[in-house]
Amino acid sequence: MDNDLHIDITQGCLPVVNAINTINIEEVDKILATLREVILSSQHSLKKPESAEGLSSQIEGFIGKTNSISTKGIGVDLALELFTSLLIKQGIPTNHSGFLSYVGVSPTPASALMDGLISASGMIGSAWFGGAGLVWAENQVLSWLAELAGLPEHSGGCFVSGGTAGNLSALAAARSSFREINPDTKENIVLVGESAHASIHNCAHLLDLSIVTVPCDDTGRVTAPILESLFKKLLDNNQLNKVVAVVASAGSTNSGQIDDLLGIGQLAKTHNLWFHVDGAYGGSFLCIPELKPLFKGIELANSIIIDPHKGLFAPYDCCALIYSEPKTVTSAFSQDAAYLEHMNASPDWNPMHYALHLTRRPRGIPLWFSLAVYGSHAYTESLRKLLVTTQTIKQKIIECEKLELIEHTNLSVILFKRIGWDTQQYYRWSDQCLKEGIVFVVPTKWREKTVVRLCIMTTQLETQRIDAMLLSLL
Ligand SMILES: *Cc1c(COP(=O)(O)O)cnc(C)c1O
Repeated sequence: MDNDLHIDITQGCLPVVNAINTINIEEVDKILATLREVILSSQHSLKKPESAEGLSSQIEGFIGKTNSISTKGIGVDLALELFTSLLIKQGIPTNHSGFLSYVGVSPTPASALMDGLISASGMIGSAWFGGAGLVWAENQVLSWLAELAGLPEHSGGCFVSGGTAGNLSALAAARSSFREINPDTKENIVLVGESAHASIHNCAHLLDLSIVTVPCDDTGRVTAPILESLFKKLLDNNQLNKVVAVVASAGSTNSGQIDDLLGIGQLAKTHNLWFHVDGAYGGSFLCIPELKPLFKGIELANSIIIDPHKGLFAPYDCCALIYSEPKTVTSAFSQDAAYLEHMNASPDWNPMHYALHLTRRPRGIPLWFSLAVYGSHAYTESLRKLLVTTQTIKQKIIECEKLELIEHTNLSVILFKRIGWDTQQYYRWSDQCLKEGIVFVVPTKWREKTVVRLCIMTTQLETQRIDAMLLSLL
């Protein structure tokens, strides 16, 4: 390799000799070697990040000042060193084997590497015209997911940044389709299960949709009889004709419970309502054939979302948004601009027409590459492994006298009580576990009471770590 060859960072990755904005081949190799190390290395330790002041003073110790951005630049060596030695060690990696809070993710090596390649490719994922090959590959993944859900063959959509963005676009599409038929209805209502994710509420507010909450049964699920009695009430109050959509959870984030998708879906169809299924967390488990019965009815959805950056081992940020009738939603998202006319008029598959975005990274590609490389069976096996670990931990909890397992959870979520503890004790314990680098776990609420919530998303969780966590509770 010619070591004097320079790459102009303003010119994509075309090697050109340029006096400014350059990076030489040795420096490129250094960055690649770091990437290799991060992909192959063992995990960072679990610890609480520094405060902003603490971090600033560490940075000062490193580069002699607190501002890393200067007119002349600090160069590859120092900036890279700052990144690897300091910046990526601040915070809690969600791929750590002890990360049991929220919904963690451990990207596969293939998907993480491909993420870098996409940026380097300079390809845009907005339209077929600009990124046909990548849009094609993304669509293969969407078709695979649609088939797992049992959606019609002509279903489709696009990848967006996350479940929140997916829910927003799905509800915008629902509202748009409702308003086309009912342009004069002033108030628009969305029916949302009690256990729905907070983002559904945010999206409804943004879209000026009134929320009517559908209560859950004792096990934390929305069922058809509950929804049916709500429909009766809405009818009596002359509100049923204002309902735009029904939203159900295919895996609530707090408990993993899956609503009665079949019952809800059938009722939605009977009343001619848009049926949106939020599978941001749980949808990935459709990969496991024996779990299919849990999801029965998802095939009735008008729109579904699944976050591969949760359950499909893809890097951030990635949410699959799929419509059963994609052709009907494009009018909600087309942007009118003279310079976009040729794309708006094109009959090709243009991801920009299926969600609220224009410029978009082809963010489904890391997952596509990884699926292509390892095959879907590897995903099924990894997800099964999460469920086996979940069962093992549940069994250990049952065997601990001081712990009480909450029965009604599903998928890879575990909820349990530490008998005799008040809320403060749960939080102190959570802090202590992080301090000692055992696990990162935050408490949640179940029926108004504080409990421990575990969400098992890593296949690397060690038995000693689980045992150390349980021991620290006694
Ligand atoms: C995580 C989650 C969301 C939000 O997704 P983001 O990717 O964080 O925006 C929505 N719904 C459910 C059920 C989730 O678990």
